[in-house]
Amino acid sequence: MTTTTITNVPLLDLQAQYEPIKDDVLAAVTEVLDSKRFIGGPKVEELEAEINAYSGTKTAIGVSSGTDALVVALMALEVGPGDEVITTPFTFFATVGSIVRVGATPVFVDIDPTTYNIDPNQIEAKITSKTKAIIPVHLFGQMADMDPIVAIAKKHNLYIIEDAAQSIGSTYKSDDGNHYKAGALGDVGTFSFFPSKNLGCAGDGGMVVSNNVEIGEKIRLFRNHGAAQKYYHDFVGGNFRLDPLQAAILSVKLPYLEGQHHARRANAAYYNEKLSGVVEIPKILDKCDTIYNQYTIRSENRDAIAEALNKANVGNAIYYPVPLHLQNCFAELGYKVGDMPHSELAAKQVLSIPIYSELNHAQQDYVIDTIKSV
Ligand SMILES: *Cc1c(COP(=O)(O)O)cnc(C)c1O
Repeated sequence: MTTTTITNVPLLDLQAQYEPIKDDVLAAVTEVLDSKRFIGGPKVEELEAEINAYSGTKTAIGVSSGTDALVVALMALEVGPGDEVITTPFTFFATVGSIVRVGATPVFVDIDPTTYNIDPNQIEAKITSKTKAIIPVHLFGQMADMDPIVAIAKKHNLYIIEDAAQSIGSTYKSDDGNHYKAGALGDVGTFSFFPSKNLGCAGDGGMVVSNNVEIGEKIRLFRNHGAAQKYYHDFVGGNFRLDPLQAAILSVKLPYLEGQHHARRANAAYYNEKLSGVVEIPKILDKCDTIYNQYTIRSENRDAIAEALNKANVGNAIYYPVPLHLQNCFAELGYKVGDMPHSELAAKQVLSIPIYSELNHAQQDYVIDTIKSV
């Protein structure tokens, strides 16, 4: 009999994810290399159709990253100088960086402290005559509470761009009785295929989905320098194209995604059972499921827990240590400490721990015991 003693657990194990699909990935890559279709082409179109079907949307546009998905969506919706865009300060930098890059002004609304997603109850107070769009972020794999956000957007004639970079395949049960996948409730939804997202490629990649085919076609133009016909430009867009090599890899991986979401949920259930009462466990709304891109615990002893995990060689990360309204590069916006109290407190107390689909109970026990030792 052999027993292996666990001495470390990574935050994410990309090798374990790659091993069972290696031959198929290499075959797909070889096919692209042999075809010499290195820009656009059938592999990108196939993936677009697959993600579109998966998301229950009407159109999908492959792009170069989750960041570029946001930028190109904002460009195509003609959000720019003089416009305000409402969003959360508790997100990855790209959400807000993209708003500023198109020349618009981000307007922050604090989070619901239990879900870490934008608090819909605080949105209307921030709407002005300049407000053009809302970007709810579906953080850690759980969608924001979309029904009230959609109602507010309708009432004030605003666009909704769902930043679903962390939440591809996550669902929301609307009051209309239907279940919607991330990206299907807004005017536009954006995904990232950064390697640490649930559906990750071997580099950078992203996708925009929409139920509005007209907006989708405009995004398609902006993705490629605003040219419907080569060398004839109707708009100034950019090079925001998805590589066919990445698209081919993603098409190999997509069929496994639901199974991986399921495994993450099972791992979360195990943590929930063992860690409730020890730390605050993730709160998932009844209307939502989550794909657990992160399993994020919360504690006043966060720093001590992180130190113990580091000592035990357990991967962990703080998403996010500095809310965006307090970043140096946004100082001109005039926010100060205390303006977004829930985001600021969350930044001091949250900690994400390993939740990847290949994680086993023995590894989880090692993580749990380390946390309990604090
Ligand atoms: C990862 C992420 C992005 C950016 O995606 P990239 O593909 O890394 O450019 C944007 N928003 C959120 C919330 C993210 O987590």
